[in-house]
Amino acid sequence: MTIKRRLSMFFKQKVLAPQLGRMYQWEKMVVDMPESICGDKNSPVRFEIPQEGLKMEGDHPPIPGFPASLRQQIGSFINIRKSVLELADNPVDGKTHIDNATLDQLRQYALSIGADDIGFTPVPKEWVFQNTAICFNQAIVLVMEMDKTRMETAPSVDTAVMVHETYNQLGQIANQIAGWLRGRGFAAHAGHPLGGMTLYPPMAQAAGLGWRGANGMVITPRFGPRVRLAAVFTEIENLPIYEGNEHGWVLDFCQSCRRCVRDCPPDAFYDEPIQHDNGLITVLDNRKCFPYFMQYHGCSICIKVCPFNQQSYEKIKAGYFDN
Ligand code: SF4
Ligand code: SF4
Repeated sequence: MTIKRRLSMFFKQKVLAPQLGRMYQWEKMVVDMPESICGDKNSPVRFEIPQEGLKMEGDHPPIPGFPASLRQQIGSFINIRKSVLELADNPVDGKTHIDNATLDQLRQYALSIGADDIGFTPVPKEWVFQNTAICFNQAIVLVMEMDKTRMETAPSVDTAVMVHETYNQLGQIANQIAGWLRGRGFAAHAGHPLGGMTLYPPMAQAAGLGWRGANGMVITPRFGPRVRLAAVFTEIENLPIYEGNEHGWVLDFCQSCRRCVRDCPPDAFYDEPIQHDNGLITVLDNRKCFPYFMQYHGCSICIKVCPFNQQSYEKIKAGYFDN
């Protein structure tokens, strides 16, 4: 057995497996809280990337970018733990209404600590994964850009490390925003971008932050699909809910583009996305994507090749509406 393989096996068995066990216990703590909103049989099943990685045989890194990404991965675990433990700091009778001045301050605060965009949406139960739960059904959705130059080298160790850095930073930001809200009398539950308890793409789309493209990622106006998403769940009832669909044209654009589908090395995208009874859509077969994803540093080719990653949203939009 090679040293690389031994190191990978050691990390999987002695570090990753016990740590994942703890993470599932933290998630179960939220499921067991009274009045939690739990995923049920109509909810999506989360594809457990780390668990699947543990089961996978072969000479692949235990997590994308390993060992260079390890520090960021540990940071993410710390912030996932924090997001659960700090629920104990929520006010008992939190405020359920926010005034315009505080809402403006919230936006400014989120942007000042590194979020690139912010939106709001209610969260139906169908977006909560099975066996997980959220404390409140109103969401502040957060967008964070992934570095463009480092995305260009995908699939590479450096891209994988950059993705982990984005996860870690955005997870910290979600916790900071939850703390900011608690300090002003609102209860909050931070949702980490890694794994997460809900499907983030439909939430970001509903919040007006972009539109879900054929690659399953949300195409945002500033960064295309080169973003990670997170959320902070609250019980604030008067968040400004978006009701338009200004990015809806992206769906039609994707029909004529299909670049991500063509360039996916293991051909993981379905010819026709699967439409589920609960309104959700599955665009790719994880069983085909995942082995390549693990072998090639988290892949990300379907993000890199997207025209919205290469050119400006406005330019593509102008071309689309001119034709
Ligand atoms: S990450 Fe790679 S393998 Fe997975 S769907 Fe995208 S291009 Fe295909
Ligand atoms: S590569 Fe093309 S088809 Fe795929 S998400 Fe981007 S625009 Fe849509």
